[in-house]
Amino acid sequence: MTKFDCAIVGGGMIGAATAVALGDLGLKIALIEKFTPSNMAPLQPFDLRISAISIHSQQFLETLGAWQFIDLSRACQYNRLGVWEDDFAYTEFHCDEIGRSHLGYMVENKQIQLALWRVLRCHSNITQFCPDQLEQITEHERYLDIALESQSIQSTLILAADGANSQIRQLANIGLTGWDYGQSAMLINVKTALDTQDITWQKFYPTGPVAFLPMPDGHASLVWYHSKAEIKRLSGLSNDQLAHEVTKAFPNKLGNIEVLGKGAFDLTRRHANDYVKGKVVLLGDAAHTINPLAGQGVNLGFKDVKALQMAFAKALGEGQAFDDAKTLQAYEKARRPDNLMMMSGMDAIYNVFSHPSPVIKLVRNLGLFASQRAGKLKSKALAYACGIK
Ligand SMILES: Cc1cc2nc3c(=O)[nH]c(=O)nc-3n(C[C@H](O)[C@H](O)[C@H](O)COP(=O)(O)OP(=O)(O)OC[C@H]3O[C@@H](n4cnc5c(N)ncnc54)[C@H](O)[C@@H]3O)c2cc1C
Repeated sequence: MTKFDCAIVGGGMIGAATAVALGDLGLKIALIEKFTPSNMAPLQPFDLRISAISIHSQQFLETLGAWQFIDLSRACQYNRLGVWEDDFAYTEFHCDEIGRSHLGYMVENKQIQLALWRVLRCHSNITQFCPDQLEQITEHERYLDIALESQSIQSTLILAADGANSQIRQLANIGLTGWDYGQSAMLINVKTALDTQDITWQKFYPTGPVAFLPMPDGHASLVWYHSKAEIKRLSGLSNDQLAHEVTKAFPNKLGNIEVLGKGAFDLTRRHANDYVKGKVVLLGDAAHTINPLAGQGVNLGFKDVKALQMAFAKALGEGQAFDDAKTLQAYEKARRPDNLMMMSGMDAIYNVFSHPSPVIKLVRNLGLFASQRAGKLKSKALAYACGIK
């Protein structure tokens, strides 16, 4: 039976990044993914799932050798971030405030996954099991027997990067705290009549925010947060009807739009009570799902991967075992508080901005008004959001 140091379940953005990061340390890796990632044709329409990739994540993907494979003609650099509720309280963050050339890139999730798969396919110490999936794990004192659909393998550790509904997290009996926000988010791909923009913006309404994420050639991804019932109604409309509703509901900044595609997601928050249990380690959405309000989900996941890589590198450099309990705890200690802080911050913003009281509304708008003039504090908050605090 083939033996591995780490078996990673899930080859999405986080699982694939983990495979490359740990493969770079010389560890023998098994990557198990249910679905073979399909290639993208250069001219195919933009995927619905895109992410705002922070400077920190971009740098990390560069060190993994994956950023080089991102087709930047399908991605969009953004330099400014606008946030407001009432017009007088419009607040804009600019990359100049943190001495950077940009704040991040909008990139299709699939492009990032494919770029990472191109890199991992060049590592002789990474074996892909794809399409394949986990059936059973049997724990022994020093290793795990892992039954896959196709065959059985052995591994010292199992790393769960199998997403928000992680099967491994459930098999390991790791509990969760979390809730359903009672809202959905609709992602709408549009072609606007305007040139490509260098700004991403978000306007808050009592029903939830609406957001604009720029894409190349005047395209954009719009995000519309609303009650589940309203998003269900909007999902049933034709593209032309939806374009009409968007024009009525969104700020008057889009110009004429054509709706090209749409999809809806329920919003949930989940945080695993432990990131490490015995020989099981959780990363990315398997460990935490955050309100997508500020586009931080996968950026936090990449930070998990980097922290695990650093913990393993330190152990190996000191002649220790990478799977030592102390090493695994160092990973959890590095990530859990940081993820919790970001999740709680997003929830605070979400709760404050959805509060119906006119007094709270005035206070939050004054807060935004003040933050536009907050100098160093404002640039510190921006650097934190970009992952370069
Ligand atoms: C509406 C919305 C907008 C978002 N916008 C942003 C944004 O702008 N910026 C940002 O940083 N984040 C954003 N996010 C969050 C981001 O999409 C997620 O954090 C990210 O996709 C998580 O990646 P992952 O690899 O951990 O999990 P996933 O992407 O869920 O990947 C899990 C992988 O595991 C595989 N898998 C699952 N179970 C098994 C199994 N048993 N065996 C084998 N394989 C398995 C799946 O096929 C999949 O490939 C957004 C999320 C939503 C819902």
